[in-house]
Amino acid sequence: MSKYTDPPQAPPLFTGTKESIVADAKALCDTTRSLLDKLVAEIKPAENPKAATFDAVMHPQTEDENTSSLSARILGFYQYVSADVELRDASTEAEKIMDEFGIECGMREDVFRLVDAVYKNSGLAASQEADKGRLIDEALAQAAGLENAESARLLEKERKNYIRNGLGLPEGPQRDRFKEIKMRLSQIQIAFQKNLNEENGGIWFTEKELAGVPLDVLDNMERGKHEGQEKIRLTFKYTDLFPTLKFAKNPATRKKVFIENENKCNDNVPLFKEAILLRDEAARLLGYPDHASFRIEDKMAKTPKTVWDFLGDLKTRLAPGGVKEIKHLLELKRKYYEARKMRFDGNYYLWDHRFYDRMMVEQEYSIDENAVAEYFPLQTTVEAMFKIFEKLFGLVFVPLDDADRKRLSPTGKAEDISWHPDVTIFSVWNDESEGDGFVGYLYLDLHPRTGKYGHAANFNLQPGFLKADGTRHYPATSLVCNFSKPSKTKPSLLKHDEVVTLFHELGHGIHDLTGRTRYARFHGTSTVRDFVEAPSQMLENWCWTPSQIKQLSSHWETKEQIPDLLIEKLVATKHVNDALFNLRQLHFGLFDMTVHSPKTHEELEKLDVSELYNDLRAKIAGLKGPEAEGGSNTWGNGQATFGHLIGGYDAGYYGYLSSEVYSADMFGTVFKADPMNGKEGRRYRHTVLEKGGSQDEMLTLEQFLGRKPSSEAFYKELGLDG
Ligand SMILES: [Zn+2]
Repeated sequence: MSKYTDPPQAPPLFTGTKESIVADAKALCDTTRSLLDKLVAEIKPAENPKAATFDAVMHPQTEDENTSSLSARILGFYQYVSADVELRDASTEAEKIMDEFGIECGMREDVFRLVDAVYKNSGLAASQEADKGRLIDEALAQAAGLENAESARLLEKERKNYIRNGLGLPEGPQRDRFKEIKMRLSQIQIAFQKNLNEENGGIWFTEKELAGVPLDVLDNMERGKHEGQEKIRLTFKYTDLFPTLKFAKNPATRKKVFIENENKCNDNVPLFKEAILLRDEAARLLGYPDHASFRIEDKMAKTPKTVWDFLGDLKTRLAPGGVKEIKHLLELKRKYYEARKMRFDGNYYLWDHRFYDRMMVEQEYSIDENAVAEYFPLQTTVEAMFKIFEKLFGLVFVPLDDADRKRLSPTGKAEDISWHPDVTIFSVWNDESEGDGFVGYLYLDLHPRTGKYGHAANFNLQPGFLKADGTRHYPATSLVCNFSKPSKTKPSLLKHDEVVTLFHELGHGIHDLTGRTRYARFHGTSTVRDFVEAPSQMLENWCWTPSQIKQLSSHWETKEQIPDLLIEKLVATKHVNDALFNLRQLHFGLFDMTVHSPKTHEELEKLDVSELYNDLRAKIAGLKGPEAEGGSNTWGNGQATFGHLIGGYDAGYYGYLSSEVYSADMFGTVFKADPMNGKEGRRYRHTVLEKGGSQDEMLTLEQFLGRKPSSEAFYKELGLDG
């Protein structure tokens, strides 16, 4: 192992203070602003058209962007992970400053004129005019007189961004209004996310009301006297929420939890409405029929019609499956109620689903998810996942202990290269077959704490790129998750769905680590939204392949691998209630498309978003809410916690489903027969992962598959073929 001890690049520092975080953000913006001012002052295409070349105009900007990305992402990262509320606030403020500056830059007409002149001087303008649908590849870049396809893509995207930012609009009230909207949307995004991060509500229950919830879950909840009674406080964090919805026997408890969870961030309700109205107004200003058309234009799907057709087809194919699954679950519920002499009203409610879905798996597949979890202690599961990536992609993961951290830290202090003592750090390398070089840094921050981001996600901390001297800057990436903490008596044990989540997020991390692009902006997972999930979704298949499940497992006490019989049972559950699962995704996707493509702006103004959210869910997924008991359909505001739609997945949630199509195609075509085929793994790494967003993702996919993608593998996987 000794050859993997001295990375050629020090890890980044996390020594920001509340003052420095804000000051650094301002300084980054100032540097960029002076650069742009200088370019505009020195290069005058009106006087000397030949002066506007890629080297003169674009190159200094990409250099600046590469350099600033080294600190910009970290400045914005503290808000999700710092234990110090002042740092979180400073980070939010820093992100706001940088976002607003980004908007300011994107609206600079003087810079746009330079970029547009470069575009027109290159052959790109003419060749794109001649063939509008043609994707940029090396041949086209060469013919256009540009150094490589990645530079051509950068130029084309940069110019298009200015136009999408309103610079195609005449100067004056329209353009000013457009700018105002962009600014306000950025504020909304920050406020919305802050409300989600800082959500700290909960419900006090008696022990009796929580009957059925596993003891180790209850052990981690706060206890205290509430209204004169000994009670337990349930929070809305996943580690409390999901086990309670799955195991609490009392339907009134589950109903209360479900409904209050859908009302936990009601401050976001008006923000959501304002956001969709502003987006609609902005899209119409630019001449698009709606926000969805604007957003999908530069995705793989290209037009909303492609998306509506895809979602519509899926809905038709899934609907009968959903009806069948509910009928079965309802029968289970009826028996459960009869055995307990409870009054059965014939409805299958939203707060029933996790409970009966879990019970069905236990009864009919005789699988106990807690028994499975015994085989997946967090620590050893992570190590086993690394082994898979080592074999498949030729990577080596080296944990950094305290002495290593001290040695590698630019300040000489071990704690300075991390944001919290819970974080583990790895230096990642290529193995011998891949040339032994350094790959990057990986950080794992896996347990919940106050003020921390509440879901599971991968954050890029520093992208990779080619430096001016031709050497490479290597990436740093982090997983931020919320797996339960070890208890006094047991390590943190992962349920199988958490194993899948971890592997999925680690998949994003690997995508991020193995990125090898010229420019920071195309690095790693910086792909279009309707592709970005595909690599991670493809990796989920490993967690459903018996040989791989075995590899990943090690009983926390006996160290034994999971028995074949248990694996068999587990794999048999893969598609249990799968139609309902996908119909839920479809609900999210169709809700997203519906609020982002109203026929008129007035229609959107009149829209009751909560009503639409609940109605669409009832219609698509078929699960009943309080309205089936005579309540109104405005009982909950699911959109208020739908962070995706404010955080960048607007008119893009369908991407989770269309990525499934691509991932099923890649897995079925290349890996299904032998998931540990290292040759194919490396080909995948170098053909797909490495490319990031540096070329059109459709081109990447076609290069890997050797043909155009097809939906067949996806429908086959769901049992919906033929
Ligand atoms: Zn993901």
